[in-house]
Parts: sequence; C-alpha cells; structure tokens
Amino acid sequence: MSYLNELYQQVILDHNKRPRNFGELEQANHHADGYNPLCGDRVTVYLKVQGDVVEDIRFKGVGCAISTASASLMTEVLKGKTVAEAGAVFKRFHSVVTGRSTDTSDLGKLAVFQGVSEYPVRVKCATLAWHTLQAALDGKADTVSTE
Ligand code: ZN
Repeated sequence: MSYLNELYQQVILDHNKRPRNFGELEQANHHADGYNPLCGDRVTVYLKVQGDVVEDIRFKGVGCAISTASASLMTEVLKGKTVAEAGAVFKRFHSVVTGRSTDTSDLGKLAVFQGVSEYPVRVKCATLAWHTLQAALDGKADTVSTE
C-alpha cells in the first residue's frame, strides 16, 4: 500500500471511529433519511439553513466505515458554505468517486475518497450522505435510496 493510500485509510478510519458533528440537530429546518440497501448503510442528515447559508449540519446513522466517514467529512466541509456551494462540492465529489474526474485539487480532505472509484459498490456508500443532503435541501420527505 502506498504512503498516500495509507494516509487516506487513516483519515477514513479516524472519522469512522470519531465521527464529527454526529447526532440530531434540534434547530434543523431541513432533514432527510438515506438508505443504501446494498450495504445496509443508514444516515439522517440535519441542516440549519439560514438565508442561503448552511449554518449548521449534523448527521446520525449506522453504516460501514466509508459511509460514516463520508458523512462526517461532509459535515465538516459544508458547514458555513452556501447552498449553491454545497451543491457544487457534491458535483465535484461525485465525479471523483465515480472516476469521471481524477482532479482532486479543489476537494481538500474529501480527496481521501478517490480510491473508492475502483470499487463501484463502495461508491454508493461514499455518496449516500450526499444524496441525502441533496434530498434534505430539496425538501423531499421520503427516504432516499441509492437503488
Ligand atoms: Zn457501506
């Protein structure tokens, strides 16, 4: 395993062990549930959007290391961003984890998920929280499924 891969692995394991912004958000004005039946990952994303800004974002759920770490890093990256910026980050993240783009220069810590593009089943784990975020922002009530 290369040094970079090992480093990335450590970031994912760390966020899985100690997820950031974990738990319900009482002042949330958007939330949605997501489910990935292929792996069994479940996530609920809570957002407090004020004006156009994601003032606070939290999540809870049970899932594999990739899905939990992805949700945790997502909350870190998106807090304080505008809704439009959050959508743009999701687009970039999605194109990297699905292998359509190999440029991670603007993704910061989210670059750790680039290796996921080699494992199509894992792409759903990595993007579950993001699809759920999008559903929360769009105000959809039903559970989002990756299928
Ligand atoms: Zn998973």
